[in-house]
Amino acid sequence: LPNEYQQALPILKKIEKAGHEAYFVGGSVRDVLLHHPIHDVDIATSAFPAEIKEIFSKTIDVGIEHGTVLVLEKTGQYEITTFRTESTYQDFRRPDHVEFVRSLKEDLKRRDFTINAFALKEDGEIVDLFDGLNDLNQHLLRAVGNPHERFFEDALRMMRGLRFVGQLGFDLEKETFTAIKKNHSLLEKISVERINVEFVKLLLGNYRKKGIVNFIKSQCFEYCPGLSGKEKELQAFAGLSEKVIKYESQAWVLLIDQLAIKEADIRAFLKSWKCSNEMIKIVQAVFYGLQVRKAQPFTADLLYQLGERQAVLVEELLWFYNKSPNIENVRENYQQLPIHSLKELAVNGNDLIVYFDKKAGKWIKELLTYLENAVIHRQVANQKEELLQLAKKHLD
Ligand code: ATP
Ligand code: MG
Repeated sequence: LPNEYQQALPILKKIEKAGHEAYFVGGSVRDVLLHHPIHDVDIATSAFPAEIKEIFSKTIDVGIEHGTVLVLEKTGQYEITTFRTESTYQDFRRPDHVEFVRSLKEDLKRRDFTINAFALKEDGEIVDLFDGLNDLNQHLLRAVGNPHERFFEDALRMMRGLRFVGQLGFDLEKETFTAIKKNHSLLEKISVERINVEFVKLLLGNYRKKGIVNFIKSQCFEYCPGLSGKEKELQAFAGLSEKVIKYESQAWVLLIDQLAIKEADIRAFLKSWKCSNEMIKIVQAVFYGLQVRKAQPFTADLLYQLGERQAVLVEELLWFYNKSPNIENVRENYQQLPIHSLKELAVNGNDLIVYFDKKAGKWIKELLTYLENAVIHRQVANQKEELLQLAKKHLD
């Protein structure tokens, strides 16, 4: 068992000692079997939430209506979820209420794909009720049970399937893929926020190209914001260098570039995807920087404007335009800028007020910007006396 599981073992033991069942479940079991690093350890139990809260002294109700209690132990925090079924589905979305059950089998049955439906016992034994090990070995994503029914219950599972193609490089089993293709329009019922999460994971996956190809073939793109009718553009996106995309902002920039979305329309596109304002700002800056950088080396202006982090994000994207990035060079050039922000300018607004003996006003901002530019372009040293003299000359 990996370290993360070793550390969590006392939790399983404690629950079992109290007379209940407890297992590791979900993506971490899949990842352990694939020898991939694991992120979150999910635990499923026959104990009801109230029973879990009696067993552990420090707990937080993070999603008690779904049966999830967060247990705080010295070794870490663990989400413990009571076995449940999700029998009443409405509108092709997640169920509005869940039913707690005592049977592991019922809990595993509600999971999306066979490789996500393992349970791992405390002694290392794997519970594999749906032949998931076989699918894992064959690199197949197979819906648990009847795929049509499962995608009808929750259409997001189709996007999750495509996302796992992008992350794992597995194939969608034939019937599962057919069911996605047939039901792709059900995605319309799913909130964009949930689709966004899966789509971004697909874009950042090691097998992005394969994920996008399946995304196109299944027609799921037709029900994603701003992608309807964009098969050709998505094909071009799939055809980019197979290098892994590191960051979400870079993925959006590359996609937006392939879709030939104009700079002025980036905001609306990302808003339709429910991206945060923070993400939108970064994507806009990196997109702009990339357009300039594609044509010429970084200028001091552009480096200063972008900042080191965003400049590096831009430089890394050159890979996808058949140019070799030189990250070290970008960092060095950035470090060598005379100043990196207005704060580093050797005069501030107050200095100007005192020196010119003039009331505060918008002239200060203008003058500071003038001096800032002069310093960045090395027309003057970043020195108080010299800057004040230049300011005087400028105002005269
Ligand atoms: P990741 O490694 O990205 O966390 P994951 O498989 O763990 O992938 P989660 O969203 O963390 O994905 O979900 C944990 C588990 O819950 C899944 O492995 C699966 O068994 C189940 N699950 C999650 N979402 C669904 C869904 N929409 N329908 C059915 N089962 C789901
Ligand atoms: Mg997970």
